[in-house]
Amino acid sequence: MTQIYKRVAFIGLGLIASSMCHAMRRAGMASEIVGYTRSKETRDIAREIGLCDQVCDSAVEAAQDADLVVLCVPVGAMEAVAKEIGPVLKPGATLSDVGSVKRTVIDAVGPYVPEGVHFIPAHPLAGTEHSGPRSGFAELFDNRYTAIVPVDESDQQAVAELTMFWQSLGALTETMDPDHHDLVLAVTSHAPHLIAYTMVGVADDLRRVTDSEVIKYSATGFRDFTRIAASDPVMWRDVFLNNKEATLEILGRFTEELFALQRAIRQGDGDHLHDYFTRTRSIRRGIIEAGQDTDAPDFGRVKARQE
Ligand code: NAP
Repeated sequence: MTQIYKRVAFIGLGLIASSMCHAMRRAGMASEIVGYTRSKETRDIAREIGLCDQVCDSAVEAAQDADLVVLCVPVGAMEAVAKEIGPVLKPGATLSDVGSVKRTVIDAVGPYVPEGVHFIPAHPLAGTEHSGPRSGFAELFDNRYTAIVPVDESDQQAVAELTMFWQSLGALTETMDPDHHDLVLAVTSHAPHLIAYTMVGVADDLRRVTDSEVIKYSATGFRDFTRIAASDPVMWRDVFLNNKEATLEILGRFTEELFALQRAIRQGDGDHLHDYFTRTRSIRRGIIEAGQDTDAPDFGRVKARQE
């Protein structure tokens, strides 16, 4: 395996950074991996599990001399981290991030990137509802897309290297414009998360259904909402605060469709419901055909239960 970057620094050591560390090791990338996270508790866990070659006690120490620095903190924390490490980034280094929103991260981080440092935002479209350095695994990015979101002045060679780096971690890559990225993600990820949070919140509020019933009968659909709604509250708070317009646009459309379905139910318009569900089913088929999920029944969990 060719060594793309000699020293790679992760700022933030949660699910995404730890999965990147594991995937780098799996790929046999001979790079030196260093990391930093703000809490001593998380640094201790990272040290205990041997996540990086070195866990530093400051972001500056980790970023110094790194050929690639990846910001793996919640979107709302990117600016403060960039401000702190900006002055020590070495000329020729690449600064990237994995934030779930791109436009506000570019606006927040951009001003702190020194001349001669390549700033190339990115976003792996892969995740789980788990957080922290213990939750990472090498396969997380396999066959999943990572959006590479170059800014206007991004150097082509540096973009090619970062693209190759992500491909070595198992990812498929796609270059995207930041605003388009934020709109696509509002449809595919941000709005669905908000809807899941709402549905679980509604069930929680519904005192007519007891807690035990909610849990006992969850496999009827509710369970899949609860998995999404168990995602990290800080990360998702920041996603909505930072992808405001695109999310509100999609939620507006969602509300209109919901009203139309409500009307169809009230008026007994079975044709409308049937046509609608036929269309949505074909989208599911498209996802399976594109290799982005399995067609195993019950979302592939039957096998897991038998083990
Ligand atoms: P995570 O597992 O919750 O880890 C978050 C990391 O950021 C921890 O190291 C945490 O430090 C640190 N952190 C939290 N708040 C901070 C703050 N205010 N200032 C500095 N550091 C802070 O998160 P993750 O899932 O890896 O997500 C990291 C980034 O990846 C986010 O920007 C997220 O939008 C993006 N992303 C997530 C997913 C996903 O499904 N989870 C998928 C794609 C992209 P301590 O533990 O030391 O407090």
